[in-house]
Amino acid sequence: MDVLSRYIEEHHEKLELDKETINHVLNLSNTLVERTELVAKAPEFEKHGPKLENGKVSLPPGNEEVYREFGKAGLYSIFGPEKYGGLNLPYTLYSAFTEIVSRACGSTGLGVAVQGSVIDIIMQFGTEEQKAKYLPPLLKGEKFGSVCFTEPWAGSDLAGIRTTARYEDGYYIVNGQKQWITNGGFSDIYILLARTDPEKGKKGLSQFILEKGIEGFSVLRLEKKYGLEAQPTAVLNFDNVMIPEENLLGNRGEGLKQTILGLSGGERIGVAAWATGIAYSAYLEAVEYSNLRTAFGQKIIDFPIINRKIKTMEKQLDIARNAYIRAAVVKDTGGPWSIEASIAKLYASEAGVSITYQNQQIHGGNGISKEYPAERHVRDVRTATIGGGTSEIQTMIITRHMKKNSCSYLGIENDWELWRDPNNNYIFKIPKGLIDWEFWGVKK
Ligand SMILES: Cc1cc2nc3c(=O)[nH]c(=O)nc-3n(C[C@H](O)[C@H](O)[C@H](O)COP(=O)(O)OP(=O)(O)OC[C@H]3O[C@@H](n4cnc5c(N)ncnc54)[C@H](O)[C@@H]3O)c2cc1C
Repeated sequence: MDVLSRYIEEHHEKLELDKETINHVLNLSNTLVERTELVAKAPEFEKHGPKLENGKVSLPPGNEEVYREFGKAGLYSIFGPEKYGGLNLPYTLYSAFTEIVSRACGSTGLGVAVQGSVIDIIMQFGTEEQKAKYLPPLLKGEKFGSVCFTEPWAGSDLAGIRTTARYEDGYYIVNGQKQWITNGGFSDIYILLARTDPEKGKKGLSQFILEKGIEGFSVLRLEKKYGLEAQPTAVLNFDNVMIPEENLLGNRGEGLKQTILGLSGGERIGVAAWATGIAYSAYLEAVEYSNLRTAFGQKIIDFPIINRKIKTMEKQLDIARNAYIRAAVVKDTGGPWSIEASIAKLYASEAGVSITYQNQQIHGGNGISKEYPAERHVRDVRTATIGGGTSEIQTMIITRHMKKNSCSYLGIENDWELWRDPNNNYIFKIPKGLIDWEFWGVKK
């Protein structure tokens, strides 16, 4: 039985899910990871990397097939509406699927997380026509999706983007550049944030759906980056791209609000699940290695300092998993899910960086060797504290909410601080020590 089942089963009544369904999805995810031999293939994918040739992006050999196998097994359809071919199950199970894939391959796991975000955004803001057109192929894994918010000159401060979308005779004409786009050039469907009404500032941004192959859309380059080396992370260029007006997502002028909501939901919980998956593999490797390796005539796990590291990793993993599953459950059942998503993202990404680093340390010189996965995990998870909104931005979002809503500190319960939000009498659970409240000016 997968370790995740007890974390989700705890919420099964709230999610109106029977335990068999939970375990079926977890088992199916694990079966597909095994069947596609993803653990063994991950280092090969990284060695080969994606390619940009004649304007076309291809994944490392065999990687696309893995993504498609997940689709055939129905895994992208987990939380999609039945009407469009989805299974209508909670998003929580999709985040668990993301964790399970990420344990095997960080690059592929991130692609799975982003696919979930695109599905989530279209479900939240799409018109019936857009849902009918784009959801079925995304849910089946016949098409893949990317989100395009970041630009060379604006990431955290999305209100500062410069890509424009000028309306003219039934079309929005898009000009600009997007950077750091996960699965950019490989994906078929893109959610794009652009400035439609420059004079309206933050209220002058809108989101669009566009498809690869549209005239004027091109891939300028793939980033050479630290970690996630099997992932195509692209700089995309938009040169007078004519997007039909029916591809405006939601209302004109609500793009920034939608982006923030989209990021808060699928994207941040997805990144938290992804980081937890990589960290879990690192933890298992640390346990195995420290039980096999000997020094000074004893197993290294028997040195108190190594033992303590393993115990700390175990605790961090438990908190990270609890936090992202809790955020996903709140997203599924109602409540302040965007703050919960920031808490989960902040904790799980920082914990992921710490756990993978300690695994590398426990491996000694072998932690630096490419013969072991330890060093890859360190590199792959590093993006977690940056992509989908940095740790600093998450901390700002959480502390602002606490101040604005006069949340009161109730005390500590095990490893969690409890904070009461007077709105709806909601209790936030925040990992102990995650935030330096005094620094951020929040009274405890
Ligand atoms: C591998 C990878 C994949 C990605 N995938 C995608 C994707 O698919 N789609 C997409 O749109 N984007 C993607 N991103 C981009 C990512 O979301 C941005 O890098 C991130 O939001 C940070 O923006 P930035 O890089 O412009 O940094 P900046 O915003 O320039 O931030 C620089 C530093 O300043 C800090 N900072 C900024 N503002 C504040 C503030 N108000 N208070 C305190 N500190 C602040 C930040 O925390 C950071 O430490 C990806 C990034 C990476 C690395």
